[in-house]
Amino acid sequence: MREAFRRIYGADPEGIWAAPGRVNLIGEHTDYNDGFALPIAIPQHTLVAARRRRDGRLRLHSAQGDGPVIDLHADRLTPGVVTTWGAYPAGVVWALHEAGHRVGGADLHVDSTVPSGAGLSSSAALECAVAFAYNDLYELGLGPTVLALIAQRAENGFAGVPCGAMDQLASACCTDGAALHLDIRAGTHEQVPFAPQAQGLGLLAVDTRVKHDLGDGAYAALRTGCERAARLLGLAALRDLGPQDLPRVLELLPSRLVRLVRHVVTENARVTQAVSLLRAGQVAALGPILTAGHVSLRDDFRISCAESDLVVDTALAHGAHGARMTGGGFGGSVIVLAEEDRVEPIGVAVTEAFRAAGYQAPQLLPVAAAAGARRVG
Ligand code: ADP
Ligand code: MG
Repeated sequence: MREAFRRIYGADPEGIWAAPGRVNLIGEHTDYNDGFALPIAIPQHTLVAARRRRDGRLRLHSAQGDGPVIDLHADRLTPGVVTTWGAYPAGVVWALHEAGHRVGGADLHVDSTVPSGAGLSSSAALECAVAFAYNDLYELGLGPTVLALIAQRAENGFAGVPCGAMDQLASACCTDGAALHLDIRAGTHEQVPFAPQAQGLGLLAVDTRVKHDLGDGAYAALRTGCERAARLLGLAALRDLGPQDLPRVLELLPSRLVRLVRHVVTENARVTQAVSLLRAGQVAALGPILTAGHVSLRDDFRISCAESDLVVDTALAHGAHGARMTGGGFGGSVIVLAEEDRVEPIGVAVTEAFRAAGYQAPQLLPVAAAAGARRVG
């Protein structure tokens, strides 16, 4: 990183910061419904080498972004002006300004091992790495939760992606060996021990290598649908419903909204159940909860796709305890929980099934609960 930074900017960076991607164990499309989620940070992460500038310029370079250094002015950032990958890091500087923090310019160089667009939150990793770098360089004294919300604001307000806060909270607040039990409404989170390897289990992320275009508009439509259902039911958010309320309230809604509400309510319950199991040390018992979550996303939310379903079905047929699509949907990655010695044969079987179906080869990424964002150099 230092070498690359020096080559690009002709000076040494003041430091290097890392922020991980994430997989969400359970609790999908619940964050914007004020609900619960249970992500882990993964070992794959984004690095940002940074150096302050006194002249207010904000220069951005990425080993992954093809193209020259992006040259901006930290004081003159407005949403819509940056339309490339630079919107994510520039958005963080904009969001800091908006929140009243007097930060100046910087030179930033980015390099990442989080596959981009794979549902593993490379965008949140990028935002959080930049937010943590700025926090240290400009001595803002902000904690990980506040930095995560700044990062989310950057993605919503500057990059124009209406995501919830789960990805950024996971990248900023997760710790090694634990899942993060998020309560979005309460604004609180709790570490829950998650060490499948200690029980002879493995967690595999399978990047299907597809991202169906449908995804972008559909996310906003799902979010609007959930908000409309809550309004029709006179609730602040779907978080306010429990499984016991379903028979009563589903009669009051049109059928499309019934499906959305059923997913959100049962998914929140699955998070609670998963947390209890993990606290009791029953990691393998998480499997059926993961699979039930997938079925709910496939049949009720209808955001799975043939490739993700093929991973889940193949993994289960080869002895996985459970599997589900993770992330926003319409492609991206699937997580598989299995006995450690089943992980490799499952990977082989999935790869073979993709070949037989004529799909592009998937990428297999063994994952574990890793540390959240931090300074590394
Ligand atoms: P995901 O967050 O699931 O990986 P997104 O579509 O939300 O998918 O974010 C991917 C986008 O984030 C990329 O298209 C790119 O604009 C930006 N991005 C992420 N990581 C990097 C990186 N290392 N360098 C440049 N841009 C990146
Ligand atoms: Mg993203």
